[in-house]
Amino acid sequence: FGKREGGGRVRFFDAQAARVDQQVLWERRRIEGGLLHSEFFLLYQPKVDMRSGTVVGVEALVRWQHPHRGVLQPWEFVPLIEDHELVEHLGDWAIGAALHQANDWAEAGRDISISVNIGPRHMARLDFLERLAFHLSQWPLLHAGSLELEILESTAINELAKIADLVAGCQLLGVPVTMDDFGTGYASLAYMRQLPVHALKLDQSFVRGILDNDEDRAIVAAVLMLAQSLGRTTIAEGVETVEHGRALLALGCTLGQGYGIAKPMPAEALLPWIAEFERSPPWGRAGDAAAA
Ligand code: C2E
Ligand code: MG
Ligand code: MG
Ligand code: MG
Repeated sequence: FGKREGGGRVRFFDAQAARVDQQVLWERRRIEGGLLHSEFFLLYQPKVDMRSGTVVGVEALVRWQHPHRGVLQPWEFVPLIEDHELVEHLGDWAIGAALHQANDWAEAGRDISISVNIGPRHMARLDFLERLAFHLSQWPLLHAGSLELEILESTAINELAKIADLVAGCQLLGVPVTMDDFGTGYASLAYMRQLPVHALKLDQSFVRGILDNDEDRAIVAAVLMLAQSLGRTTIAEGVETVEHGRALLALGCTLGQGYGIAKPMPAEALLPWIAEFERSPPWGRAGDAAAA
């Protein structure tokens, strides 16, 4: 019916829009319920120094153990709450859960820093730093650097002055901040100078192409140079194979994360994985290379 004439068409689309809204509202309520019932959990993906063959930390990646639909990936639910206060609840939960896990590892004799992804809306909250300080105060065993945050480049650009202050505030609390997915947003040289982030995380879309695409290789090389001259660290995400790692090392990027190193894994798998990795890193050790 909606296709026949103007008036009908408008009503037709309105009804559809309303149905979509209803669906989103319902999904959000399910997410809220899921947070309440501890249905979310974190997987941990190692970040390594490919030159020395050591693990420098892990990134916490959220999953939802849905009661009917199995394990859901972030793209299936994070977009639904990105502009909603639920993303703040999810982030707050993730920070608490990551610190708890870091404390468990510290008690097991291993200091592993965990980085948590923070949505744009969450960091802009008035009480963000206060909450962060409160979380940290719960774990006296942990030292500065046990928690790191990853923020999206697009976040930083929208409200640069405000985000710059927040990033500085986090670092005063001993929480380094990395700019995630670097190269996909709008950050310019001038922005980078004003944002006191400790590291840039090179987006996987550039890393993927470095083996066979000259432009991607040029972009990676330029970002490395930029980061170095501004005193920032660079880490590559999406290191899909050992060859990608080798190519990154040749370009001077020593830190990497990706399926070619390890997939995201449950907390209990991490210490055994680290032991194995540090015994025989796929690129050898810098020392081995020197000896050879
Ligand atoms: P991200 O922060 O850029 O995380 C990296 C994503 O790349 C992860 O996907 C990871 O599993 C995937 N990945 C790692 N290595 C490789 C590789 O070699 N190849 C490929 N193709 N992919 C790789 P995941 O876990 O699905 O997370 C997707 C995004 O969801 C994250 O991107 C992040 O933006 C968001 N996210 C994850 N956890 C949270 C969270 O706790 N809160 C919020 N707000 N967002 C989160
Ligand atoms: Mg991230
Ligand atoms: Mg990323
Ligand atoms: Mg990414």
